[in-house]
Amino acid sequence: SSSKGYLAMGRQAARLGGNTFAFFTRNPRGGAQKSLDEADAAALRGFLRENGFGTLVAHAPYTLNACGKDEAVRDFAHRAMEEDIARLEAALPGQYYNFHPGSHVGQGAAEGVRLISAQLNAILTPGMTTTVLLETMAGKGSEVGRTFEELAAILDKVQLNEKVAVCLDTCHVWDGGYDIVHDLDGVLAQFDRVIGLEKLKALHVNDSLNPCGAHKDRHAQIGEGHIGAAAFARIAQHPVLAGLPKILETPNDDAGWAREIAFFKAAAAGGAPQKPHGQAEG
Ligand code: FE
Ligand code: FE
Ligand code: ZN
Repeated sequence: SSSKGYLAMGRQAARLGGNTFAFFTRNPRGGAQKSLDEADAAALRGFLRENGFGTLVAHAPYTLNACGKDEAVRDFAHRAMEEDIARLEAALPGQYYNFHPGSHVGQGAAEGVRLISAQLNAILTPGMTTTVLLETMAGKGSEVGRTFEELAAILDKVQLNEKVAVCLDTCHVWDGGYDIVHDLDGVLAQFDRVIGLEKLKALHVNDSLNPCGAHKDRHAQIGEGHIGAAAFARIAQHPVLAGLPKILETPNDDAGWAREIAFFKAAAAGGAPQKPHGQAEG
């Protein structure tokens, strides 16, 4: 959460059993950055080291649209991303900064790809330690990044290619038509062919309220949607996905997230855990 201090976010993640977390760089619906509390950021850096945390995945505001039709919309996206990356470089170097590529609002996916890559080329610098992650999108409305091909087209146009990669959201790819339930290996092979698995840096692990290909983007608790607990156990156990930060964006309270984290840990360790919510799967 963005309303908490840095150290408090780390402590909360650890309390729930996690070793990474996501946080919004500012109010998710937009707004200005808070002032930087350097002592708090330093305390979190120490906490992450001492507790063996993996890379964090900061999330840009949802309102950031690098391929908006209005120049003011694109300018906000440019300014917010530039400020957010500068903040991360100062407070928490070496982490991931994940953003929704944007919505082309009728300009067409090719123009969206062009505007998004142009913005990244204007912002990324050779000296930065942050890696910027494009998120796979469900394809609702005119979202860009609904296919691996669209993400590859953006990545191909970014000059500082080593500064950009991908965050795969399980709900979004499922809603986008990638059947990770029946053919996880096939989807990962497709990702490898089109984008390259070396570009897969983080996962958002969310179940989906809708069937494969629905293009809706409604997250469900792990095991309570159309993806289901068994598929998430396979995701937790998959060697290609093993070392990646896995971020929950499920509708939950702390107890629910703690159960989901315990589920992923048990599955990753080779167990066959009960689904985290409600009764065992029938
Ligand atoms: Fe997201
Ligand atoms: Fe996501
Ligand atoms: Zn989503």
